[in-house]
Amino acid sequence: MSKISRRTFLGSTALAALYAATSPAMSLAQGKSLSWRNWSGAEVSYPQSRFSPANENQLAQFMATSSGPLRPVGSGHSFSPLVPTDGHLIVIDQLTGLLSDDEAAHSATFAAGTRLADMGPLLESLGQGLFNLPDIDRQTLAGATATATHGTGIQFKSLSGYITGLRLIMLDGSALDLSAVSQPDLFAAACVSLGCLGVVSRMTIQNREAYRLKQTTWVEKTATLLENFDTHMSSHRHFELFPLTHSDYSMALATDETDEAINNPEASPEEAAAFDTAMRGFMLVPPSLRRPLINALAEQIGPSERVDASYKILSNIRNNRFNEMEYSVPVAAGAECLQEILALIIDKAVDVVFPLEYRYVCRDDTMLGMSSGDEDHAAISIHRVASEDYRPYFDLIEPIFWKYGGRPHWGKIHSLGSEQLSRLYPRFDEFAALRRELDPQGRLLNAHLSKVFGEPV
Ligand SMILES: Cc1cc2nc3c(=O)[nH]c(=O)nc-3n(C[C@H](O)[C@H](O)[C@H](O)COP(=O)(O)OP(=O)(O)OC[C@H]3O[C@@H](n4cnc5c(N)ncnc54)[C@H](O)[C@@H]3O)c2cc1C
Repeated sequence: MSKISRRTFLGSTALAALYAATSPAMSLAQGKSLSWRNWSGAEVSYPQSRFSPANENQLAQFMATSSGPLRPVGSGHSFSPLVPTDGHLIVIDQLTGLLSDDEAAHSATFAAGTRLADMGPLLESLGQGLFNLPDIDRQTLAGATATATHGTGIQFKSLSGYITGLRLIMLDGSALDLSAVSQPDLFAAACVSLGCLGVVSRMTIQNREAYRLKQTTWVEKTATLLENFDTHMSSHRHFELFPLTHSDYSMALATDETDEAINNPEASPEEAAAFDTAMRGFMLVPPSLRRPLINALAEQIGPSERVDASYKILSNIRNNRFNEMEYSVPVAAGAECLQEILALIIDKAVDVVFPLEYRYVCRDDTMLGMSSGDEDHAAISIHRVASEDYRPYFDLIEPIFWKYGGRPHWGKIHSLGSEQLSRLYPRFDEFAALRRELDPQGRLLNAHLSKVFGEPV
């Protein structure tokens, strides 16, 4: 045998598998292994090993040779405990970049670990643009689609709805290239997989020609905005609300395609600091006395506009860490559900200043998408800053979502188990059966997913 270089030795998947096999004993001897945390910091776990494959072959070899539980992780931006494991964490941060594109079809294939933030500029250089984006773009393509991450717009599906092909590396190391043509059912499942069918290594996404957007922001009474919501939604490409708690007002965002020159000034740090100070001040006032103060502040906020490349307008940077619960309800029930939540926050004097978020998502053909099936959905989010216990607030509000037939966002906090989920998602049982067939031993499950699929922990 020729000499083995240090690089080969340290990068070897066999070594990783060997480490994986021996590390439980090491963990026990040395106490807990290095911790993993999600973006909000609320979810912590101690994986026995981390494996970051440099290519699909290494990933396949690891899948085939390792034993015990494993969970793939993207950028760890899910609030729900989808990722935590005390087994192997498969980190896809080396599987990144554009792999190929089809100019005529406006589609492109990316390695699964590519961050949404990197896709915008790469696609722009090809003359392409994503149809829509979520509120932030730090997620990986595989992670975002595994939970049906979405933006807003009645004609826009979640990101998963634009996937036209993907490669799934199975537990035995084999690779399946899936599309709506090749294996339609498995493809519909794998587009929103919760990371429990295998590990996705590449995805092809349908785009359109590159475009520019103009976003207009203003503050108006929530009741008026909700009354006119469908008109706004049909007259703008995107429309959404950030309803303020303990207030009669919401921030409205309307976004449209434009040819206007780019004009996207950076947010003024002084203005942001002043707003932050005002919000902190409100926290010192008892919730029952806040309404006139927040209304007075809201009335002072003037409209604003910005124009830029689509991907720079659709996503934002969120510096303040928080936890989030989001459910989607049929569009017809959206306004009533939102108003009931806002009223309960006032009624129970819930000590929260974080705005809600109200968006529309178009139906799609995936098995577990929040808007899968034949109805468009209104998505409603509630938030709590990461330093505070989110449970009392989320526990109070969650039954309102249930009352309206709400489906939880897979990447956000919810308390539902298989029985309720199978009533909410028409193809849930089909997904669960496929999952069992592909992973009969439950290697790709953790405690949270065992509850979701009604499997023993
Ligand atoms: C500040 C903030 C804003 C957000 N805004 C929105 C929003 O506007 N709209 C929205 O819908 N959601 C939003 N989310 C939720 C977020 O988009 C989802 O939770 C998303 O899944 C996170 O992507 P990630 O890359 O961090 O994946 P992770 O959280 O790391 O993982 C998510 C799931 O993907 C699986 N996974 C990861 N990689 C693979 C792979 N290669 N193969 C198979 N499965 C894999 C994991 O196992 C897990 O089940 C937001 C989250 C944050 C923190």
